[in-house]
Amino acid sequence: YRMLHKDGSVRWILDQAKVMQRDENGKGIRMCGTHTDITERKLLEEELRRQAHVDYLTGIYNRRHFMERAEQELSRAHRYAKPLSMLMLDIDHFKQINDRFGHAIGDEALRRVALLLKQNVRNFDLVARYGGEEFVVVFTDADQVAAMAVCEKLRAVIAAFDWGSIAAGLAVTMSFGVASDHGQGSHEQLLNAADAALYHAKSTGRNRVCGADGA
Ligand code: GH3
Ligand code: MG
Ligand code: MG
Repeated sequence: YRMLHKDGSVRWILDQAKVMQRDENGKGIRMCGTHTDITERKLLEEELRRQAHVDYLTGIYNRRHFMERAEQELSRAHRYAKPLSMLMLDIDHFKQINDRFGHAIGDEALRRVALLLKQNVRNFDLVARYGGEEFVVVFTDADQVAAMAVCEKLRAVIAAFDWGSIAAGLAVTMSFGVASDHGQGSHEQLLNAADAALYHAKSTGRNRVCGADGA
């Protein structure tokens, strides 16, 4: 349990006790126990839980958290017959960015992309770093047309960002693949469809949004 320490901080306490002696009716008359401050352990547990779900570089959710939540969101969409769309997006020619500007600038670009994504989707949309320079978003309550409109806005925001403020001459664009749920199938299947659409966006010129249904 928690208690308020007299220095004003909240401490986590673990109490353990044992009856040492009982009277003839079995009632405890002497007890012995300890009162341990486990605040450090509690904070460590909390930090481990956070690290298991959050990407260390960008501070947004990681792939593990995304996969868990995407599955939940999709079953909710199926249950309530609501639309849901999945986006997979990937930085264009990121290897060249690293090669030309260095890994630290590459990292900074990744952090900025994460921020721009968070700032330009709704609070309840799920944004995560899938790995490397790939990000994913679940748009709840959005069909393919609505999701693609948001993606087009994201694409434009990222392309128009003042990347020169991070490194002179830097420019970043991203390619987008969008797939929408049709009331059946798994979140993995939806992700694969978004990935295939992303591949299409890459192979047809990059810095563009493609839909799984060929849109
Ligand atoms: P494409 O337009 O086809 O996506 O080309 P690309 O160069 O972006 O694709 P590729 O998959 O060849 O390169 C991805 C690069 O991302 C390679 C890897 O070094 C870099 N990368 C992955 N994770 C990180 C990271 O955490 N930080 C930095 N700076 N670079 C990373
Ligand atoms: Mg890339
Ligand atoms: Mg990639």
